[in-house]
Amino acid sequence: MSPLLDTGTGSDTVVMKFGGTSVADAERIKRAAARIVKKREAGQRVVVVLSARGKETDRLIADALEISERPAPREMDMLLSTGERVSCALAAMAINDLGHEAISLTGSQAGIVTDTSHTKARILDVRADRILEALDQDRIVLVAGFQGVSIAKDVTTLGRGGSDTTAVALAAAVGADVCEIYTDVPGVFSADPRIEPRARKLDVVSFEEMLEMSASGAGVLQLRSVEYARTHGVRIHCRSSFEDAEGTWVVSESEAAAALQKSNQENTVENPLITAVTHSTVEARITLKGVPDTPGAAGTIATALAEAGVNVDMIIQNEPPEPDARADMSFTVPREDLLAAQDALKPVVADLGVTAVRTEAEMGKVSIVGAGMKTHPGVAAKVFTVLGEQGINIEMISTSPIKISCVVPGEQVPQAVRALHGAFGLSGEDTIRPEQPFGQFS
Ligand code: ADP
Ligand code: ASP
Ligand code: MG
Repeated sequence: MSPLLDTGTGSDTVVMKFGGTSVADAERIKRAAARIVKKREAGQRVVVVLSARGKETDRLIADALEISERPAPREMDMLLSTGERVSCALAAMAINDLGHEAISLTGSQAGIVTDTSHTKARILDVRADRILEALDQDRIVLVAGFQGVSIAKDVTTLGRGGSDTTAVALAAAVGADVCEIYTDVPGVFSADPRIEPRARKLDVVSFEEMLEMSASGAGVLQLRSVEYARTHGVRIHCRSSFEDAEGTWVVSESEAAAALQKSNQENTVENPLITAVTHSTVEARITLKGVPDTPGAAGTIATALAEAGVNVDMIIQNEPPEPDARADMSFTVPREDLLAAQDALKPVVADLGVTAVRTEAEMGKVSIVGAGMKTHPGVAAKVFTVLGEQGINIEMISTSPIKISCVVPGEQVPQAVRALHGAFGLSGEDTIRPEQPFGQFS
């Protein structure tokens, strides 16, 4: 437990989730198995969630795209769910060899029930009886992450990074003390340490801030896992799978505020204005030219996209120059949803008489996140000025009370992250030694 936080819930059950890099090869699976066994031997009941090994999910997606440009989502889920099953079976073997009884379960066997949105399903229920039974029989339970079974009895997957959500959902269902997310970085940082080597590890982050960070590209925790953790009050401890050190605790706003106060008393530092700079390089922009300036047009467009399961992020609609003229509407979508968005828009474009559709696939986004900005004017002005000084053109802007996001050309994202990180005083000492850029993380 972090010295900044109070003790846990008192439960003797823990969920440990290992990401793809942490189980990439036989040696790493054995290392994870040893860590799992150590936890069990310390007296805890252990539920483990594993991701597919290394880049296995990317490989499976590439296999599908070699066969078909638009693979059927149901079949994609059958394919993608195999990656995490392999990891679980192998890890169970490694744990058995260490003298403990382990049982591996698919998402379906573990009782993870989802809706029917293939490739981005939502968890509706976790029927954890089988897991609890196995724990009572003194077994270590390994659950394949990122998957479930739909209410129509089909295999589903939970979207990229979905094993985090499996882990949090299981932690809630079994009443775990903590959901430990073991990954290839030592915690949640003030920026992606692969882009900004001077990023600092954050000791404690509130759900509110982590939600904004994950939503704006900090893939270290999947957005839905943070939503689920907040709704169900699950504390997340995000930490390195390669070393023992304390990572980052993601906890309620009140717990985070108390921890910040305690840390301020100890260090006499001021509350930071912003917590992190986040980024995404997987954005695409669609512009519809000549949208009728009539009530309902935007609704028709948004409904078509929503029905196709496309998540629209930023939207801008300009004011037509004269009353009867038509408007232009631009919005961003995740690049992986671009084809689905284009398909969904075809009939709407025809119905509304939209004159042209332009798509740009290589957009990026940089955001700053921090509860401290709620009470400080001038933060947006500083963001725009810093980006302007870097010669970076801001193409779209969106804000929330604790976030400012700017869409910028994809290739300028790293420069934008570093400039903002420095300008807001987040850069500490280099956390990564220059001669060994990502050594400790790979
Ligand atoms: P896993 O396979 O363990 O789930 P992910 O690749 O999904 O790991 O997430 C870890 C990666 O998230 C890190 O390697 C890092 O590059 C990236 N990342 C992005 N933003 C951040 C951040 N703010 N703090 C830490 N890591 C981040
Ligand atoms: N294997 C899946 C992915 O690569 C899920 C996960 O790793 O969380 O997205
Ligand atoms: Mg992940």
